Amino acid sequence: MTGLTGDPVPRSVAIVGASLAGHATARALRREGFDGPVTLIGAEQHRPYDRPPLSKEFLAGTVGVEDLALENPNEDLAADWLLGVPAVSLDPASHTVGLADGRTVSADAVVIATGSRARRLAGAPAGVHTVRSLDDAAALRADLAPGMAVAVVGAGFIGAEIASTLHGRGHPVTVIEAAPAPLAGPLGLELGAAVAALHVANGVPVRCGVGVTGFRVARSTGAGSGATRAGGHGRVSGVELADGTVVPADVVVVGIGADPAVDWLDGSGLDLSAGVVCTEVGATSAPGIWAVGDCSAWYDPCHGRPHRIEHWTDSKERPAVLARAMLGRTAGNLRAPYFWSDQYGVRIQFAGRRFGDEQVTIEAGAPDTGDLLAVYRRAGEPVAVLGMNQPSLFTRYRKALPSTPVHAVHAVHARSVARCHRRRPMTTTVLPESLISTLPGAYYTDPRIFALEQARIFERMWFATVRGSDIPTPGAFRTVQVGSESVIVSRNRRGEVRAFLNVCRHRGARVCDEEFTGTVERAFQCPYHAWTYDLDGKLVAAPNLTKMPDIDRVVYGLRSLSVRDWLGYVWVSLSDEPPSFDETVMQEVIDRLGDVGNLDHYDVAGLSVGRRIVYDVMANWKLIIENFMECYHCATIHPELTEVLPEFAGGYAAQYYVNHGAEFAEGVKGFTVDGSEGVDLLPGIDPDQDRKYYAITIKPQVFVNMVPDHIILHRMFPMAPDRTVVECDWLFLPHVVESGKDVSRSVELFDRVNRQDFEACERTQPSMSSRMYTDGGVLVPSEHHIGLFHEWLKAQIAR
Ligand code: FAD
Repeated sequence: MTGLTGDPVPRSVAIVGASLAGHATARALRREGFDGPVTLIGAEQHRPYDRPPLSKEFLAGTVGVEDLALENPNEDLAADWLLGVPAVSLDPASHTVGLADGRTVSADAVVIATGSRARRLAGAPAGVHTVRSLDDAAALRADLAPGMAVAVVGAGFIGAEIASTLHGRGHPVTVIEAAPAPLAGPLGLELGAAVAALHVANGVPVRCGVGVTGFRVARSTGAGSGATRAGGHGRVSGVELADGTVVPADVVVVGIGADPAVDWLDGSGLDLSAGVVCTEVGATSAPGIWAVGDCSAWYDPCHGRPHRIEHWTDSKERPAVLARAMLGRTAGNLRAPYFWSDQYGVRIQFAGRRFGDEQVTIEAGAPDTGDLLAVYRRAGEPVAVLGMNQPSLFTRYRKALPSTPVHAVHAVHARSVARCHRRRPMTTTVLPESLISTLPGAYYTDPRIFALEQARIFERMWFATVRGSDIPTPGAFRTVQVGSESVIVSRNRRGEVRAFLNVCRHRGARVCDEEFTGTVERAFQCPYHAWTYDLDGKLVAAPNLTKMPDIDRVVYGLRSLSVRDWLGYVWVSLSDEPPSFDETVMQEVIDRLGDVGNLDHYDVAGLSVGRRIVYDVMANWKLIIENFMECYHCATIHPELTEVLPEFAGGYAAQYYVNHGAEFAEGVKGFTVDGSEGVDLLPGIDPDQDRKYYAITIKPQVFVNMVPDHIILHRMFPMAPDRTVVECDWLFLPHVVESGKDVSRSVELFDRVNRQDFEACERTQPSMSSRMYTDGGVLVPSEHHIGLFHEWLKAQIAR
């Protein structure tokens, strides 16, 4: 049995780092039913404990060590705990961890969960602290006497919390921040300033835009602020700043960030360029070696690159995804990243992803009040939310943020991303944050890649072939190309849909002509030697067949294929073991619309074809998919579409979001070329869907556009690296079609869009073989989701 990454499911697991992520991994493995040996290796003596209170309640003295435990009182994970002994090496080939005391631990899988290490300032004398561990926080607490002056270096979240806690304990506190504006990175300038303003509002001075150059040291007992007890010779007495000033301090806390604790992995061959580089589910480039928590730089499809999140919720939730993937189970959805911070009695919460180009609106409160709800939007859709003392409103907005589906394919593919990052660090162009790479040009031109796509995608997956109404009666058939094969789709005598390879079992001649529609009375007959097959594919006649009684007529019949009837189309899989329809086709719908129900409302199967147009496009099929997925081009080439759907002019496609309907322009009555009224509305749609356009791609070859009165469904038939036939159906209510109502204005709108798109694809295709495109092009932020498609593709053809 294999895990999602294709590695064997392990029989034993060693987890290095016995804290939040390590403990959560062990717990998740047991919850998933893993009953093999689990070993937890921890550098600290302590059983797993929670770090957030270290800068808050524990430092304030309102909770004790016993309140920090992460284990439940009676929890027994049946694990071997090796505590107080750091790991010092890893051999990924043998999965062996070397310990500082000379012992080694080997297991089928190793999970790296060694977290972060607080950054320090050089030359720090006694009295200068960092707070990462329980021992650090206890040492800081022990070092503080009443009234001592404290300088906090760094106004990030941990520094700010420590300042707030110590201010609450009655210490005079000064905050020093090298950046001109605190928290501008995570929150943006305006809102970072709103949070940082809490210091000043509470009487804590903040020195911004000035770096620390050194420490003043007391020459005699009692130097510094003059407070008693810990002051002493050689202890810190102040912080020297770059502007020549000194901030007097008896105690200094340095909160200038943390680095992944991965130095023990030097020489392991793992990519440590951004933490432990791994996939969305935690798989590193070395089979059986995983990473999770603060130290892991997991591939983030939204950013298109490995990404480290140093927050409690991610470290707590991601281990469940890792455990499921390790044991071969699908990983589900991950909520948008989230963190909280408590400062000066204000609960600060942030969820989502910021890229820096969002519009920010204050939905409640005001920046200078410590009470605020701000929403970050892209193309009108919330992508992140910040709350200050607004827990209920915050929760409402948080729930509406898109979650990230974690697909098996992403999990697998991102492994190759991790490998690629590892293999090509010197040659890969470092792109600015806002750009990610496309596929190299060869993917669009190379016949070998096209052959791989045919074999591993189109001939393996579910492929929408014909509309059921194209073969209305027993014996009606149509031939279509699926991958490299010609396929006959037909109905047997009972009217059931059947599909066969269009290859005579005898000597391989085509049984039916290419691209042909017709009806046979009772049987298909090969025009070469007249081998004849009934409508279930069984061999029923051939010259001299009676003289060959040993021939099994089913075995020597036509090769039957798996079929599914869905949305009124016949979906065929050429695979002997077709993938689960639910986990592939339906999951695509769930990923884009959040719920299959959102498509069911349109009752696509019950509609009739009002118009079909077939386009022969001289471009690679992936260019067509990519074009369909983004709207960066809409303002340039789709004047009619952007008139009807003005938000598309902003460059963000409906497919950028989950279940996003693009709103019709004011005054537009229907989805028609001139905005005039369409035909009768589809009765099942939600009130919310009645003036909106939705679009989904069902990989590998179907696009569906949903508007209130019709559906536009495209099926692509990739014929060659540079040629794709696209068959597009406009589906209306049956009575609309039967009555002969004029649907031309509805058809014309998307027909124009199609022609504009396909022309753009044909314009792009020749450049795919240009030397300039050898390494591919780039995707801007509104196109980053196309990166997911590229990952998916590479994962499929790598299998
Ligand atoms: P860690 O908790 O750092 O655990 C890693 C463990 O691995 C440690 O026990 C370490 O000793 C051990 N280790 C390291 N190297 C080795 C080795 N070579 N061999 C064996 N063991 C090793 N997040 C929020 O979202 N909100 C908050 O309010 C918040 N407050 C915080 C306050 C403080 C003071 C700190 C320090 C963090 C805070 N965080 C907060 C962040 C959150 O606690 C971390 O994201 C989380 O602890 C990460 O969990 P982890 O298991 O990946 O790493």
